[in-house]
Amino acid sequence: MPVPKYRTSASKRNMRRSHHALSTPGMSICPNCDEVKAPHVVCHACGHYKGQQVLEARQSNEAWDGAGLSETPSTAEKDTTSNESK
Ligand SMILES: [Zn+2]
Repeated sequence: MPVPKYRTSASKRNMRRSHHALSTPGMSICPNCDEVKAPHVVCHACGHYKGQQVLEARQSNEAWDGAGLSETPSTAEKDTTSNESK
């Protein structure tokens, strides 16, 4: 089994790990029910997409209650789906 010849320095190790940070996912607000949802995805709370009911709305106890998000992220982009009128 190949083994590194030299110990990786703290500098090289940290330079490698400088790209390992996770970024927060972009989230948008449902224009129908104001629930936080992923952009370009049907709202799982009310089942609306582009102003139309496309899915049956879930029961309130099944919907994601926002666990892990203490508040609405300030970097949430405006929902772009409403601007895409054809
Ligand atoms: Zn919704």
